[in-house]
Amino acid sequence: MKTIGLIGGMSWESSLEYYRIINKKISNQVGGLSSAECMLYSLNFAEIELLQRNNEWEKAAAILSDIAKKLESAGADCVLICTNTMHKIAGQVQESLNVPLIHIGDTTAEAICEDKISKIGLLGTRYTMEEDFYHERLEERGIDVVTPGQVARTELNRIIFEELCQGVFLPESKKKIQAMIEDLRSEGAQAIVLGCTEIPLIIKQEDSSLPLYNTMDIHARKAVEFALG
Ligand code: GLU
Repeated sequence: MKTIGLIGGMSWESSLEYYRIINKKISNQVGGLSSAECMLYSLNFAEIELLQRNNEWEKAAAILSDIAKKLESAGADCVLICTNTMHKIAGQVQESLNVPLIHIGDTTAEAICEDKISKIGLLGTRYTMEEDFYHERLEERGIDVVTPGQVARTELNRIIFEELCQGVFLPESKKKIQAMIEDLRSEGAQAIVLGCTEIPLIIKQEDSSLPLYNTMDIHARKAVEFALG
């Protein structure tokens, strides 16, 4: 089995899930007492979030690249950045590595294409919803992307950082996200990309009238395929 390197802590609430999902999938596929060979480097999200807010992405890229190299030299055969948002600097992180960086946007786009979905609604942080780095991974495969309006995007970003990343799951926030899904549906979205690794902690498939693409689950599944492949 190959070793999976995880860059986590962004937030640790979702990194816990990555660890659980990866081990569960290995256990289901291999059976018995099998579990994943993996390493998690969990960093201090307060420092990274400040760099995001201050637009200091190059500094963030240097920090994540350094961690990725540490994971590689400790024996990781692949590296995952356990957040959608930080894929803004995925290119720099990959450049610092000799092993593959498994990209959350690419793996999600592949899953959408397999299902022949051509228009999705994208939910995530304001960086993921508003900037090109994530949209382009989907659009270059012919997938149309719609996002909520400005007011809803601001509110979702607030919910992610002030609630979900801090382990707070409020029924009123869940309702707001459900309303965003309905709005995206009325704009023609055939499915919703939960493009933030904390949204699946509050929104499950039964909470949505549209099929959901849980990016964390898809990403973790790809890592397991790699490890067992
Ligand atoms: N985990 C979140 C994501 O998937 C947000 C935290 C971050 O800004 O990295 O985008």
